[in-house]
Amino acid sequence: MTKTIDVQVNAQSIAALKKGYPLILREAVINPEVLREEGTIIRLVDKFRKFIAKGYYGNQNKGIGWVLTRDDNEEIDFPFFEAKIAAAIERRESFFEDERTTAFRIFNGEGDGIGGLTIDYFDGYLMVSWYSEGIYSMKHHVYGVLDKIMDYKAIYEKKRFDTKGQYIEQDDFVKGEPGDFPIIIKENGMNFAVDLNDGAMTNIFLDQRDVRKALRVKYSEGKHVLNTFSYTGAFSVAAVLGGARETTSVDLAKRSLAKTIEQFSVNAIDYEAQNIQVMDVFEYFKYAKRHGLKFDVVVLDPPSFARSKKYTFSTAKDYPALIMDAISITEKNGIIIASTNNASFSMKKFKTFIAKGFEDAGSRYKILEESSLPKDFRTNRDFPEFNYLKVVILQKLK
Ligand code: SAH
Repeated sequence: MTKTIDVQVNAQSIAALKKGYPLILREAVINPEVLREEGTIIRLVDKFRKFIAKGYYGNQNKGIGWVLTRDDNEEIDFPFFEAKIAAAIERRESFFEDERTTAFRIFNGEGDGIGGLTIDYFDGYLMVSWYSEGIYSMKHHVYGVLDKIMDYKAIYEKKRFDTKGQYIEQDDFVKGEPGDFPIIIKENGMNFAVDLNDGAMTNIFLDQRDVRKALRVKYSEGKHVLNTFSYTGAFSVAAVLGGARETTSVDLAKRSLAKTIEQFSVNAIDYEAQNIQVMDVFEYFKYAKRHGLKFDVVVLDPPSFARSKKYTFSTAKDYPALIMDAISITEKNGIIIASTNNASFSMKKFKTFIAKGFEDAGSRYKILEESSLPKDFRTNRDFPEFNYLKVVILQKLK
């Protein structure tokens, strides 16, 4: 039996919790001294000891845990995990049926009822991410449920909860028949090489699926596409398959060269006909300006924070400047795909960054599309802060 303790939350937080807000904020807790062992089940109560919600203790960014139920009588046990995970899998039925897409998220944390836990499906392989020691202590339930209700090849896991909330380097294999990586997954008919046991990342960010599709189907034909912060070049692959005349992929990481060659190759694209630059994006902007290079489409998908030898970049502070750089090398009537995964600001705020970039550059634009997380990354509409992805596709008018 897991221990249960009562935790008092302040009046301010109660209204939101009652409305369904799932995160237990650190500042909401009045008696934090009772919080000892992560994974402890906590009953949130008001100052009269009246029950509000039940969840678990697990430190993750600004939260000390997640609400799991608003029913005091509901146990947090194997049947609880089974019900949540089975329902999540049922919601993804259309993904399982789609033969053109074999990688997607089957459990998205609080969006599917259990914060701090995500499960991705990669053509029969499962990748489970744990975001706190607390949820990790309940892994026997999660793995027990997966054994019972899923037919998988193997399970891999990422522990993302060291003191800074980062990935913990380890062998990520858990159980099953180990995969022979890279495996090739499909996304809307495109191929991507994926490795589930090679550090924090897997070679592909599944949350950009719809954006890759939009780029491929609507914006690539005959174009020169610049893909900045390109990682393994997934956007470049989408562009080439959409008929791009040329792509240029820029990433600072040395590994990005081999990884990008690999993604082109598994799609039968001649990588030698594409440009792959291992360099700082900000240096590349200078180079492109100096040489008068212009692109029809520019993809901006930076990490929330980046530090290179010469530059530090924070999306929350520097996005307007990044937009200005992009404007200076985008053709008139060209397209900029501006994306960010920074959860600390809203879409509204993000659009002010774009507006400021254009204003400072003395240029004008028209928004063509806006989007956020795809359907398999389920989130609660009432709480958009958990829908961290923000994408604006715009056209530069002058
Ligand atoms: N857009 C990619 C994902 C980007 S991940 C995709 O859709 O797959 C962030 C990438 O930014 C990493 O590969 C990292 O190496 C790169 N990066 C961080 N700072 C950079 C910089 N200053 N210049 C170039 N690349 C950078």
